[in-house]
Amino acid sequence: MPEDNAAKARQLRQLPAVDRVLSLLEPSPAVQDFPRKVLVRSIQETLEALRARIQDGQGPLDQSEMEASQVARRAVNRANRAMQPNLRRTINATGVVVHTNLGRSRLADVAMPQLQDIACHYSNLEYDLETGKRGSRYEAVAELLCEVTGAEAGLVVNNCAAAVLLTLDTLARDREVIVSRGELVEIGGSFRVPDIMAKSGARLREVGTTNRTHRRDYAGAIGDQTAMLLKVHQSNFSISGFTKAVGLDELVALGREHQLPVVEDLGSGTFIDFSRYGLFAEPTVQASVRTGADIVTFSGDKLLGGPQAGILVGRKKWIERLKANPLTRALRIDKMTLTAFESTLRLYRDETRAVETIPTLRMLTEPLAVTTARAERLAARLETLAGRGLAITSAATVARAGGGALPLLEIPSRCLQVQHANWRAREIERFMRGQPTPIIGRIENDRFVLDLRTVQEDELNHIEAAFRNLLEKEPQ
Ligand SMILES: *Cc1c(COP(=O)(O)O)cnc(C)c1O
Repeated sequence: MPEDNAAKARQLRQLPAVDRVLSLLEPSPAVQDFPRKVLVRSIQETLEALRARIQDGQGPLDQSEMEASQVARRAVNRANRAMQPNLRRTINATGVVVHTNLGRSRLADVAMPQLQDIACHYSNLEYDLETGKRGSRYEAVAELLCEVTGAEAGLVVNNCAAAVLLTLDTLARDREVIVSRGELVEIGGSFRVPDIMAKSGARLREVGTTNRTHRRDYAGAIGDQTAMLLKVHQSNFSISGFTKAVGLDELVALGREHQLPVVEDLGSGTFIDFSRYGLFAEPTVQASVRTGADIVTFSGDKLLGGPQAGILVGRKKWIERLKANPLTRALRIDKMTLTAFESTLRLYRDETRAVETIPTLRMLTEPLAVTTARAERLAARLETLAGRGLAITSAATVARAGGGALPLLEIPSRCLQVQHANWRAREIERFMRGQPTPIIGRIENDRFVLDLRTVQEDELNHIEAAFRNLLEKEPQ
């Protein structure tokens, strides 16, 4: 319709020019630190969005919306968003301690000064201060790893997937690796044992059945093509009922008999025996080393509570061969991770200190009474906001270790269940996710639930502020 098109054209002409909006914005203190490019782009995008609305015929815009001052206001909001880092701190109120999507483990605060020091300065990363010659970046942690785990040698790479890949490539390229069918696991984020195997050029020799594998299954598969025996931690699932797995001790004996290396991929890997804290009995790295595994692989950021890293400990003979593989160079750990890992490792020299200072350990072992007290404190703070449609209930819940660790383990915890007269649970959940410090909770029975086991004391302020914001807004 011609008159429609004429109206659209008129509105399009009324939109302010970029320069006009920019001249309004530039003196504003709010945008002083913004690069000009970001401002210009935000204005362009804002105008673009208005143009699209006019052209799509979503009715004419309000006169006020086309004013330069209004466009400027929108452009500032857009620029503000563009200036925020994409990777941001969040509050984990899911109750999943090692939450892969939320960055797995929080680094211990005490590791920070060293990390800052190394990251912002030169260091002896690959420089031997004794001889003044080139050194090895792995030395920084190898000795500590041996001290903590009792192994002969250690190596650290980018992550546990890399550790497994490196092991297979070094020891079993073009040869066979014997694995139980019950251990051909897929860990979230596309780590699949058979796929890693294929990439490494090793051939998978599956033995046993999904639920039962016997020593004789392994023994029967050993031949002149066999390079190693591999045991993989089941990580994120468990098989119950009529089951049988071959213990590491039996595999080690079999490996010795046939002079084959035995590798255990622990995945999570822990240095402390959680059963001492009334929790689960997860096999420790030390136990695997003691039992005689030739190489043990595990993650730095799961139950260990450090930065992302893949750790290999075991017999010197094998670790030396791994180091000599050119792939090690491609999978190498960077200096920031290395120093964060070293600091974390140092904490393990004193288990009490480790449990107090490494957030993952602290959250897993915190007595329920402490979690409950924190939940009550938050409830009391939110209580002061009540009477405006907000209802908060404190309740028992179960938290989880997460991160492909201990799937069935339920850790008693305390949560707050949030309801609001005008907000659906899913709207509250979305609102909390959109906060300056996003708060990630879960929805249960149409209530927004915050599990306090994974929330720290210093985060209660953020949560309270978010609820204040919520009460000032209408649901959208
Ligand atoms: C988690 C896991 C991995 C992968 O570890 P990343 O550090 O994430 O690479 C490998 N194997 C097992 C058994 C695991 O649980």
